[in-house]
Amino acid sequence: MKAIQVRAYGGPEVLELSEVPTPSPGPGQALVAIKAIGVNPVDVYLHTGAYTRKIALPYTPGSDAAGIIESVAAGVPFQPGDRVYINGTGVYAEKAVVDAGRVFALPAALSFEQGAAIGVPFATAHRALFHSGEARKGETVLIHGASGGVGVAAVQIALAAGLTVIGTAGGPEGVAFLKSLGVQTALDHRAPGYLEGLQPNLIIEMLANQNLSEDLRIAAFRGRIVIIGSRGALNLDPRATMTKDLTVRGMSLFNMSDSERAAVHADLGKGFANGSLNPVIGQKFALADAAKAHAAVMAAGARGKIVLLP
Ligand code: NAP
Repeated sequence: MKAIQVRAYGGPEVLELSEVPTPSPGPGQALVAIKAIGVNPVDVYLHTGAYTRKIALPYTPGSDAAGIIESVAAGVPFQPGDRVYINGTGVYAEKAVVDAGRVFALPAALSFEQGAAIGVPFATAHRALFHSGEARKGETVLIHGASGGVGVAAVQIALAAGLTVIGTAGGPEGVAFLKSLGVQTALDHRAPGYLEGLQPNLIIEMLANQNLSEDLRIAAFRGRIVIIGSRGALNLDPRATMTKDLTVRGMSLFNMSDSERAAVHADLGKGFANGSLNPVIGQKFALADAAKAHAAVMAAGARGKIVLLP
């Protein structure tokens, strides 16, 4: 079968389309024929070799995909032919084996491409809003970077939970995209002073090194700030955390327990079934063009989820 292989750490050029043996499911695993693959920023960080987590070479990248069950080990609660989405490892491939706890039924209303947009983005958004952010109905949430994979998921989940949503994206096209998602207040994060006059109870932060000082300044009394993304350091005055009793929390999906993962995906499943959650697909690339997809996910102008098609 065809798969992307990383044989050396480096830039996008290390993503090589290769012929590799088809894997067989071990105990507690399923083999999935992959129809669409989600591209996440962490896929890019990992092949640089400079990320906090390091994967041994050679490896096949990717964690999120959707497809059809081809075979299962005894006791795995799926059958050949089932439509599923997965959150595993080594999914930049035509087929992948995945542990049963990381296989989820793909709701009939969702395409395979939409299924590939769920694993990391929707689970991250859900965990950031409710587990870390303790979001409550009626509150106001500011979602920085609401136009990307995690941002779109956070917007949909927050609206469905009865929060008022302020979202940011780049440029007038980004703002128009956020309005199409139903965001009540859509802001351009390239415009000077775009955060003036806001007082959110909760802030979901995708680029903390750039925005955290301003987050502390605008957050409401007893506000919460959840850091999902950061791409560098910053010089910060922590005083506002005291004067307003603020809480700043970091969140990594990697720390989610198996039982928490099952509960999060069960809750997401209700939203997919009732139509309140509906993953939005942005750019599409062939699997062979994974390097182009990685350049795109690091560029400005996100409009939902970037997917690869094997
Ligand atoms: P993505 O699809 O590439 O989206 C990136 C988002 O960041 C876009 O909405 C982009 O907006 C926005 N952005 C650009 N400049 C910004 C600024 N100055 N202020 C606020 N937002 C800005 O990426 P993603 O998958 O949504 O992931 C978002 C971040 O979360 C990444 O850093 C990723 O590594 C991280 N993440 C962390 C976890 C975790 O477990 N902690 C899990 C998933 C993702 P425009 O393109 O419209 O300018």
